[in-house]
This record gives sequence, C-alpha cells and structure tokens, in this order.
Amino acid sequence: MTNDRQQTYDLIVIGGGVNGAGVARDGALRGLKTILLEKNDFASGTSSWSTRLIHGGLRYLEYFEFSLVRESLREREVLLQTAPHLVKPLLLTIPVYRSRSRPYWKIQAGMLLYDTLSYDKTLPPHRMLPKTKFLQLLRSIDPEDLSGGAQYYDGQVAFAERLCLETIISAAEAGATVCNYTEVTQLHRQGNRITHLSCRDVPTGEEFTVTGSDRAVIINTSGPWVDRVCSLGVENGESKPISQTAKIGGTKGSHIVVDPFPGALDSALYVEAKTDGRPFFIVPWLGMYLIGTTDLPYRGNLDRVKADDDEIDYLIAETNGIIPSAALTRSSVKFTYSGVRPLPNTEGKKPGSITRKHILFDHTSEGIDNLISLIGGKLTTYRHVGEELVDAAFRKIGRSAPPCPTLKQPLPGAILPSDDRIREAVQNYRKSIPLNTIDYLFSMYGSRAIEVLALTDKAPDLAEAIVPQLLDIKAQIVYAIRSEYAKTFVDINRRRTPIAFHDNYGFPALSVLAEVAIEHCGWTRETCDRLIEEYRMYMEKNCIPDYAIEEK
Ligand SMILES: Cc1cc2nc3c(=O)[nH]c(=O)nc-3n(C[C@H](O)[C@H](O)[C@H](O)COP(=O)(O)OP(=O)(O)OC[C@H]3O[C@@H](n4cnc5c(N)ncnc54)[C@H](O)[C@@H]3O)c2cc1C
Repeated sequence: MTNDRQQTYDLIVIGGGVNGAGVARDGALRGLKTILLEKNDFASGTSSWSTRLIHGGLRYLEYFEFSLVRESLREREVLLQTAPHLVKPLLLTIPVYRSRSRPYWKIQAGMLLYDTLSYDKTLPPHRMLPKTKFLQLLRSIDPEDLSGGAQYYDGQVAFAERLCLETIISAAEAGATVCNYTEVTQLHRQGNRITHLSCRDVPTGEEFTVTGSDRAVIINTSGPWVDRVCSLGVENGESKPISQTAKIGGTKGSHIVVDPFPGALDSALYVEAKTDGRPFFIVPWLGMYLIGTTDLPYRGNLDRVKADDDEIDYLIAETNGIIPSAALTRSSVKFTYSGVRPLPNTEGKKPGSITRKHILFDHTSEGIDNLISLIGGKLTTYRHVGEELVDAAFRKIGRSAPPCPTLKQPLPGAILPSDDRIREAVQNYRKSIPLNTIDYLFSMYGSRAIEVLALTDKAPDLAEAIVPQLLDIKAQIVYAIRSEYAKTFVDINRRRTPIAFHDNYGFPALSVLAEVAIEHCGWTRETCDRLIEEYRMYMEKNCIPDYAIEEK
C-alpha cells in the first residue's frame, strides 16, 4: 500500500463487504483507477452473517416487489454461470398448513409467478406436492393439519466469504488497490466535493491520506455503517457531517448451527413459523444445518452483534415444531451468528415488510456532488449493484461508461470445462494427498486449488492435515496469508477456510496455524500469541452462545 498512497484515484470505495467488492471489481475492470478501503477484514460485516442463499426472494412477492424478484432471479443465474464453484443449486421444500397464513393456493400462485419471473433459468421449475405424496417423500415433517407443499430450486453460496474474497481478488487482478484493516476516519470536504480521505492502518495505528483525482467519485458501501461513514465529513478541520438524517434502519437477523439431527432432510426447508407466521429456513450447510433467521429492529453496537438466548430458543422451538423428531435443545447448538441488514430507515414498518430493494443515494441533494451511498443490497444482487454504481460513477466523471464485463466474466476460481490443468493436478497430487482432500480443495477454491496444491511441491509438510478430523491442509494457511490478504487467525479460520465452524470452534487448529505462520510466513511467536487470544475473544463475542460461555 505504501506506494499506492502517492497515487490519486478515480473511484474510492469505502467498505469491503460483498457490495464494495462488486463495485471495486467492476470499476477496475472498466478502467477506473480504483481503491477499496475496509476497516476490518474483507467480508467481515453483514456479508459473513447471511443465510447464504442466492435467491429471488419468494417472500418479496407478497409485497409486490416484482422488479426486485426478477433482478435477483436474473443475478442468481449469472452467479450460477460465473461462479459455479461457489454457487450451487439448492432444492427447497415449503410445507403448507391449513391453520397458517399462507394457504396451498397462495403458495402455488407464488411458485408459478416465481417460475415466470425466472423464465431464463437453467434450474428445474417448481412442483406442487399434495399431502399424501408430500408425506411419502418427507416423512419427518409434522403431518398435523398439513395440506401439502411445494418444491423449487434456488442457489446456495455455502461460503459467501469466499465469493466476496474472489471478487476482491478479481478487482486486484484488474488493477484495483485493495486494503483490508484500513479504516476511513475522515471525509475531507471542499465546496461541493470530497477531495481526500483520512485513513488509519488498523494494526499499526499509522494515519495516511487517500486522495481523489479531479473528478473522483467516492462510493460508500459500508452496509449498516453507512450513516457512521456519512458522519465523518470534515471542512477546514471542523467536523461537518455529510447527512443530517439517518438513512439506515438496520434489522438484526440471527442463525443457529446444529449437527444433523433425527428427521433432518437432505434438502432445505422454508417454513412459516408457528408462533409469529414469519418464514424461516433450515438449510443443509457444511455437513450441518443452518437455521434462521430472526428479524428485529436493531439500534445497538454494530461491531458487537450476537444472537440473544431468546432468538436461539425461538429457532430451536420452531425447528422442533416442524420436525418433532429433531428434539433440539440448547446443547444441540454448536454455533450462532447474527448480522444487521442495512435496510432503509423506515419508521413504523414491521421489519419483514421493509423493502429489500437497494437504493443508490446521491449526496448531491445534501451538497456533496461526488459521493454515493448504497442503502440495502443483498448478497444475491451484488454484481448488479456494482454495475449500477460504476455506471453512476462514470456519469459523474463525465465519461461514457465502457460496457460492463461482469455479466459474463467468471470469477478467478471458476472451473471451466476446457481447463485441463485440473485433471493434471489431480494426477500429480493424488500420490501425496488423499483424493478426498484434493476434491475438497477444488470444491473450496475452484481452479485456484492448483495454487494451493503447488505450495506442497517445495514444502511437502504443507500437504499435512491441519487437524486429523478435517480435510483442510497446512498449505491453505500459507495460501491465505500470501495470496488472500489474511492477517489474523480469525481471517484464516473464519473467512478463508471454514475451520471455525467445525471441531470446537477451530480452537484445536490454532497451534498449527501459529507453527505454520511462523515457519513459512515469518510471523513472530508474540504476534501468534496475540492472535490466538484475539481469536478466542472473537468467538465469544460473535459465535458462542452466552449460556454456553457461562456454563464453562
Ligand atoms: C441475517 C441475514 C441474512 C441474510 N441472508 C441473505 C441471503 O440469504 N441472501 C442474500 O442475498 N442476502 C442476504 N442477506 C443480506 C446480505 O447479507 C447483505 O445485505 C449484504 O451482505 C450487505 O453487504 P455490504 O457489502 O453492503 O455490507 P457489509 O458486508 O456489512 O460490508 C460493509 C463493510 O464496510 C466496512 N466499514 C464500515 N465502516 C468503515 C470505515 N469507516 N472504513 C472502512 N470500512 C468500513 C465494514 O467493516 C464492513 O465490512 C442477509 C442479511 C442478514 C443480516
């Protein structure tokens, strides 16, 4: 970054979640001198706390959000084609009960509309299941009062963090400067423009400036932090916030993660909750089940969001309600996580009814001509949001925008049928690495698994498993640090690999992470000790239920 600080930038993107990543990639691919600034790790905000569905949002049909559903379904198809190693088809089943608010005919009508709005899809269409057929196929579902159900396909991005990361890698390959652990602390205003940004390198505390070119555009994709970033305006050394009114009215959504349980299905369930009629998901995920979500207005600390015991109990009770044999209890919960949806500030609306459509807020109306904030924006639609924001940036710059390439251009790890290197890699490494490990690496990294495997050529010890219970190997640690911007053990265990979700929160892997980082990447013992402690605090702060911490 040191050399990059002397440059000036056409496009300055604040926030390295999935939306900021999409903007940076699009801007760099279309020739804008681009920098992406993220205060924590990439995808450490809302983008790592979602249900991980790439979906049209069947529920939004109830609110007549047809354009959002169509946009999402089109983007679902784009991602299935351009990121096939990360986004996979997912079968979902909706059980329908007579006593609940959505009758069979309504679900059927919704399904027909969903199929119509995804007319260009490659996924199979829905099918309706009358009660007898439904219970033949799905025996564990509560039969009382059931009138039947529906089955349909959407997409799942099991590792959304890597979708964000690969988008950032693609941005960097196209020439963008991408910085994690770089906090924007001030937006310097001069007249009707922001001319430069004060930034802080978080690990060292060093302050520096990022300067815009004469026509630079600043894009604020800081998700739930949008208002906070807008408050960072400064003129002649005095604080002068950009906005006077709140744009975000975030709602909190929590999930629980449990091991396979009696009656668990191979497919995902989309269920109307018995207690409050809210729809929630039970989704097979990384060999476990991800259950969520809740939807509660949230005004608390955005850097410390955690599932409450009440939310956990609600999700347990609703799962037991739909699959009585599950018999889940608090002790079944391995992991929890919560995020804040960056929704528009709308007083007096029920959280579920607030629009999920994104808004590009141009701050010209507040006296600043070169700042646009994104309000909302789902994981599913991030590519299109990137395209729209870069189009808007070109309009502000006063240049005609080159065509957007991201509709067709695969992400860096996409496995293309013509790629012979993969067959060769499997042949080469199967002597030294078990086949199921090689297979796992390709499922995680796509074609970039070849680079992970290549690290074992010069250092055969890197072919060893990190811990015996997992397929992850030591080479992944080195790859995360050298090639994927990882700077902490949370980055490695939680956002480059799924180790944190397995085997006692990934704690047993930490000593190996430290050993490898010291031996192969030059990290010091003191740094590793500090990072191990930081990892423990992160897990307690975000993922281990409070009651489980108290019991310890
Ligand atoms: C519970 C839940 C379930 C969801 N499920 C789905 C789903 O299944 N499918 C779907 O499509 N969408 C889903 N969503 C929505 C989706 O996850 C989010 O809308 C999306 O991830 C938002 O991404 P973002 O990049 O805008 O924000 P974020 O991911 O929050 O990124 C913003 C980034 O800005 C950074 N930042 C903040 N301040 C600064 C600063 N001063 N300097 C530098 N950086 C800064 C933050 O650290 C953060 O990383 C869900 C959301 C939630 C909460």
